[in-house]
Amino acid sequence: MPELPEVEALAEFLRERAVGRAVLGVDVVAFQALKTVDPPVSALGGLTVTGVTRHGKFLDLDCDGPHFITHLARAGWLRWRDDLSGAKPVRPGKGPLAVRVRLSPGDDGQAPGFELTEAGTQKRLAVYVVRDPAEVPGIAALGPDPLSVEFTPEALKEIVGGSRTQIKGLLRDQKVIAGIGNAYSDEVLHVAKMSPFKIAATLTDEQIAGLHDAIVTTLRDAVGRARGLAAKDLKAEKKSGLRVHARTGEKCDVCGDTIREVSFADSSLQYCPTCQTGGKPLADRRLSKLLK
Ligand SMILES: [Zn+2]
Repeated sequence: MPELPEVEALAEFLRERAVGRAVLGVDVVAFQALKTVDPPVSALGGLTVTGVTRHGKFLDLDCDGPHFITHLARAGWLRWRDDLSGAKPVRPGKGPLAVRVRLSPGDDGQAPGFELTEAGTQKRLAVYVVRDPAEVPGIAALGPDPLSVEFTPEALKEIVGGSRTQIKGLLRDQKVIAGIGNAYSDEVLHVAKMSPFKIAATLTDEQIAGLHDAIVTTLRDAVGRARGLAAKDLKAEKKSGLRVHARTGEKCDVCGDTIREVSFADSSLQYCPTCQTGGKPLADRRLSKLLK
């Protein structure tokens, strides 16, 4: 799933290629992906892309007024196409293609564009055409962006104070902090040397400062690595840069302990016992509940 660093890189990638071009057309192949009806998708035709930004994990193309916004969800991705002029019309129900955006040709005569694809059977990729990004409920509800100037250690203290949530869940909650998902919350907690099950409100000032630093440095580093890469290379880059996430059974680069996995909410998390939980493996609560 693309998280803040990948979406940031995608926004930059699109900014360089799409800004200044007109939208020739938007072909919606997977109808369930389109979450809005007014303005219609056809309203984008002929408008020029004037900017590309990110809100949390949402990607936002400003089309000189209306916005084309997408959330790639768990299995969605963006594929850039250098020339779509010869592309065949797409029929619904075949393959992973969800939406195709065709852009005006440049001096070279090529008419590029991009495609939003979604693998698997669970279709969660979402597209919105709105007059204001705040019309997208998920954007209106976003917490502060961890790479913004407002996200200070004091702001984080305010967020964790009084929260009886486990820190792993808190970091992933888009209403609390925007842009961090399952992968980067694992990474941040490994950098901060903190148990994912720690209750937010129990953090000391020192631990909050350490966590803040871990959030900002982890995301900045990931953005730095992703920046300038082609859309198709971002997935591999994300995977290679991870320290614990999706590395169950491998050795921790910091201490040499074996990275472990435990179920959490609707998926699982990875962590290093020596670095994060005093050497003790975390109990799988789902499993122990079943055994009771
Ligand atoms: Zn370790």
